[in-house]
Amino acid sequence: MDTIAALSSGAVPSGVAVIRVSGPRAKAAVEALTGRAPPKPGKVSLRVFRKGGEPLDKGLLVWFASPKSFTGEDVAEFQTHGGRAVVDGVLAALSEIEGVRFAEAGEFSKQAFLNGRLDLTEVEGLADLVNAETSLQRRQALAQMSGALAELYESWRGRLIRALGFVEAEIDFSDEDLPDGLTGETVPVISKLIEEVRGHLEGAHLGERLRDGFRVAIYGAPNVGKSSLLNRLAERDVAIVSEQPGTTRDFLEVHLNLGGVPVTVVDTAGLRSAEDEIERIGVARGLVQASEADLRLLVMEAGAGDPVDLYETARPHVVALNKSDLMAGSPPATQKELADLPSFLISAKEGTGIGDLLDFISKRFRERVEAAPAVVPTRIRHREILTRYEFALQRALKVVDKESPDLLAEELRQAMWALGEITGRAGVEDMLDVVFKDFCIGK
Ligand code: GDP
Repeated sequence: MDTIAALSSGAVPSGVAVIRVSGPRAKAAVEALTGRAPPKPGKVSLRVFRKGGEPLDKGLLVWFASPKSFTGEDVAEFQTHGGRAVVDGVLAALSEIEGVRFAEAGEFSKQAFLNGRLDLTEVEGLADLVNAETSLQRRQALAQMSGALAELYESWRGRLIRALGFVEAEIDFSDEDLPDGLTGETVPVISKLIEEVRGHLEGAHLGERLRDGFRVAIYGAPNVGKSSLLNRLAERDVAIVSEQPGTTRDFLEVHLNLGGVPVTVVDTAGLRSAEDEIERIGVARGLVQASEADLRLLVMEAGAGDPVDLYETARPHVVALNKSDLMAGSPPATQKELADLPSFLISAKEGTGIGDLLDFISKRFRERVEAAPAVVPTRIRHREILTRYEFALQRALKVVDKESPDLLAEELRQAMWALGEITGRAGVEDMLDVVFKDFCIGK
């Protein structure tokens, strides 16, 4: 069993740095660097860290004894000053200790999982928490890291185990005096589980969006100011703004934090009957993008006519009437086809009206988040496995009547297997790479 070491805090230089060591040689590492045994678990000790005889830094040492540590192993955390030479020196000193090597990306978390300290959904929650950029993302990630999904799936698994117990009793003791219809008792259990997973899956889209960002597609005729609006949103130049129609051939994305809601705004290629091939592809992809978005934002020039061909392809949710600065005083004539949609008079050039538009978008998504259940699946991985779980339960219901407890037991086992896959209690090997691949070193 290797002992692993890595810088667990962010990029150096920084005020302080945390270098974490986990494994059976953690104690030896403390002794090598400080000349003394570790302090009591959970206690902080101020020490000089040395390489050979040479002092590298004076810092804090925290000791966690197995199994009460993040990884479940002995863990030492060296809190040093975050200078490059200090961190390099401490890491070099650690690497000289026999049995200690540098950690791979995600290896501390993997160890925590392997030692049963965290299940896979909690590990994912931890990764999401580290990556959270908005307050709502943080809330969702923290709940997941704290076991919200794990508890739910474990409770489902517990009920399945009981139901399976009934069925297996019927299989094993069919000749003996068992009350009739034990298998039948599983029907209400299965039906209730199906109902619950369906409700749970309804929140999946939202959970995934909260994690990855809601998508807003900006679309509209060429030259109405889509790229200018995107630039305005980004407050930096991300799109090429030009007076030539059709210059935005690919997608440009801007990530925004709208009152805690993560939003990705995508500028689609100018929609029009494209002349050349590249542009046609861009337009087609733009259309797809527009239709897959959570919110379609149609940009048009204030006072211009209805671009019927555009919104017949993808009806907008909200309209931005741009170039308001060019209008002579009076508000634009109502766009008759779009009159029932919320619309905002803006000037991408001068920045007017943008705040109201963003408030509207943020409110729209916030309402959806607030209406959702507190615990939702957050990854496609969850959704796919939960769907398989639901199918297994449905097949189980179908075979109950056939008086074939063997078939029923098999379907219930499939359902349990699926839940075990989400939490990492079954079929672990295949999933580890998927879950840990996005981790950075030191986590
Ligand atoms: P896109 O093809 O829809 O992406 O349009 P662009 O953002 O490239 O803008 C086309 C032209 O309209 C450029 O010359 C912009 O400077 C101009 N433009 C964009 N927004 C405004 C605005 O609010 N007011 C004025 N006066 N011009 C604008």
